[in-house]
Amino acid sequence: MKEKTAYLRGLMDGMKLPDDDNTKLLRAIADCLEAIADEMETESARVDNIEAELDEIDSDIDELDEVIGFLLEEEDEDEDEDEDGEDFDWEDDFDYFTCPNCGEVVPLDEDALQEEADPICPKCNAKLFGE
Ligand SMILES: [Zn+2]
Repeated sequence: MKEKTAYLRGLMDGMKLPDDDNTKLLRAIADCLEAIADEMETESARVDNIEAELDEIDSDIDELDEVIGFLLEEEDEDEDEDEDGEDFDWEDDFDYFTCPNCGEVVPLDEDALQEEADPICPKCNAKLFGE
């Protein structure tokens, strides 16, 4: 559009038009077309800018998506680990003994049982296995 109006302007300048009303009209039309061409150029530059910004936002969203996906994955893994750990501890590592003094249920792991130390009740400090 810009090139075409420039060509039109050049054409008119080259034609040595007579200085009459027709020429005035032609020049006014050419001015008008040039103004439109200018505006279109500005608009398309703005559209280009907006498109570039949208692209940037798009890639930002992609990045956020990745981060969120990564965080969610990590959370899932953490949960799995916690559950596994808990199952392991409760089922395999501890035996439960009831305190003969106060009735408190005391979990003891295998190590505590093998040490032949006298395990004591954490609530009343009585020896769990008596004397
Ligand atoms: Zn006790």
